[in-house]
Amino acid sequence: MAEKNYREDLVGVFGHPVAENPTVLMFEAAFRSEGLAWRYLTIEVEPQDLGDAVRGARAMGFRGFNLTIPHKVEILRLLDRVAPEAELMGAVNTVVNEAGVLVGQNTDGKGFMTALRQDGGIEPRGKRCVILGAGGAARAITVELALEGAESLLILNRDRARGEALARLLCERTPLRARFAPWLEKARIPEGTQVLVNATSIGLYPDLAGKPAIDYDTIGSGMTVCDVIPNPPRTTFLAEAGARGARTLDGLGMLVHQGAIAYALWTGMEAPVAFMKAALAREFGA
Ligand code: NDP
Repeated sequence: MAEKNYREDLVGVFGHPVAENPTVLMFEAAFRSEGLAWRYLTIEVEPQDLGDAVRGARAMGFRGFNLTIPHKVEILRLLDRVAPEAELMGAVNTVVNEAGVLVGQNTDGKGFMTALRQDGGIEPRGKRCVILGAGGAARAITVELALEGAESLLILNRDRARGEALARLLCERTPLRARFAPWLEKARIPEGTQVLVNATSIGLYPDLAGKPAIDYDTIGSGMTVCDVIPNPPRTTFLAEAGARGARTLDGLGMLVHQGAIAYALWTGMEAPVAFMKAALAREFGA
């Protein structure tokens, strides 16, 4: 008779507040579809408790964990090693327990890049890019664009200091020619832009009508227009861009791909991307 084994491998997400974070659905769907005895736990961790939570995860042999707001920056000082891109971004969203050594990674920008290549058929090398926003998602995406050889980047952000800091980081530490411009009412997207990304939180559920203040008639049919907002997948921003003939890529794809990369880092196996996407699409009513 086969030996019994009721033990499960643990991963999860630490955040605050975290109750509405749906990523558990895509990971549990993936584990079920692959027949893995793994569990993904959604864990409320207050900022002052992050150190204890990491020690707990280490003690309980977690195979890894995700970090979401507000822990992506603070986690860096609690890890044994941080991947160079995550160090450059100054943020970690995925920790991998490599035989007791906690290694920090950032899969957000890589997830975006996979969506761009696999779902959009776009190679970032040599592309002229514009990004709206300069927060965590923008940092992750622009560092990856820089490392993948994008030609130029214009950062439009409301807060000048944040936008300038990101442009400086990219110019000083990567080969990308990045510049910041203040985001004035109804920003015009420069002619010749090939990839335009909304990396702000505008349009996130329940703000369904919200859209970034740009002159949508400056979006052309030669552009690939991407949104980081996963819910709803079809934002008003993407609908406006699509109506001008642009190719559009939603934030649901980015979310699923960043999760799929974490899955592969933790399990050593390729993720069942279609199952993961279907689980979230159902939840978002897409
Ligand atoms: P941050 O708080 O770090 O940054 C938010 C950004 O949005 C800032 O640049 C901020 O500008 C800008 N912003 C917010 N509101 C407005 C507004 N009304 N007008 C102009 N600019 C505005 O958040 P994150 O970067 O971590 O997250 C941003 C979004 O990305 C979230 O909605 C999140 O859900 C999504 N995300 C999606 C992922 C995916 O896999 N699909 C992964 C990670 C994040 P300012 O600096 O001027 O305040």
